Amino acid sequence: VIVVDTFADARARGRGTVAVVPTMGFLHEGHLSLLEAARHESDTVTMTLYVNPLQFEEEQDLARYPADLDRDLALAEAAGVDIVFAPTQESMFGERPATIVDLPALTSVMEGAFRPGHFAGVATVVAKLFAGLQPDLAYFGRKDAQQLTVVRTLAADLSFPVRVVGRPIVREADGLALSSRNIFLDDEARRRALALSDALAVVVESVASGERSAAAIEDVARGRLDAAEGLNVEYAQLASQDDASLIEILDRPAFLAVAARVGPVRLIDNVHFDVDGDLVVADTGVHLQEPSLLYESRP
Ligand code: AMP
Repeated sequence: VIVVDTFADARARGRGTVAVVPTMGFLHEGHLSLLEAARHESDTVTMTLYVNPLQFEEEQDLARYPADLDRDLALAEAAGVDIVFAPTQESMFGERPATIVDLPALTSVMEGAFRPGHFAGVATVVAKLFAGLQPDLAYFGRKDAQQLTVVRTLAADLSFPVRVVGRPIVREADGLALSSRNIFLDDEARRRALALSDALAVVVESVASGERSAAAIEDVARGRLDAAEGLNVEYAQLASQDDASLIEILDRPAFLAVAARVGPVRLIDNVHFDVDGDLVVADTGVHLQEPSLLYESRP
């Protein structure tokens, strides 16, 4: 794997169809699933590794974000990545950029409401990566459901000639969605964190038995989350996949997203629903058989 820190070097080394997989590093199997899909579907796989300060609203969260460059490079190499684009803060933005990409219509609820400024930070950097790397394909996880909608929309609005591919959530065997931040969960917090994926499981049952009212579905999720000890619940809401707006009836492609804090760790999760007339198919993602390789690297 070749490590570069300028857009020109990354572009110069691409051949054929180029896929980009943006990450903030500290890789886990969720990232690896994106890399694997990209490897299958393109000639050049470029992984970006950049902890984007613009998308952190809490200084502490940024300061302690986990990092391990050597480990990430070894995992990228094993995943068949061709190029790692790892810019320094200076080479990415000398200072804060004057140009901000913002999608207010898509970001007034859920993550956007609880993390003001977060999506403008994400969108500004993703637009810069798309402009600088000129990928044919770009891979994102459904774990960040609202982010996926934001990225699809900015790519269309700004006419980036890129196909945005969304991939399923990767989970631990017991259901916990993988996240680099899971490294901060101690045993008790980790048990408590299971309330998120449990809440989604009861939501899936409720939808399978015919429930289509968003309020009722959200209540089912809230009920399970509120019953859990040591959890600070932020929201449980049903939104359209198309524009991340809250909906009242599950009658179009949607996702039920939850967010909660367990101690200092903020967790998000969701289940996607595809809707075809009366038929609703839930997609909760895929489960690992073994504990995530994330824990082998507890700092
Ligand atoms: P991050 O490094 O957390 O910014 O994530 C980089 C990419 O990996 C984003 O597109 C995320 O949605 C995706 N991702 C993170 N966690 C998971 C997961 N558990 N399953 C699938 N994709 C994920």
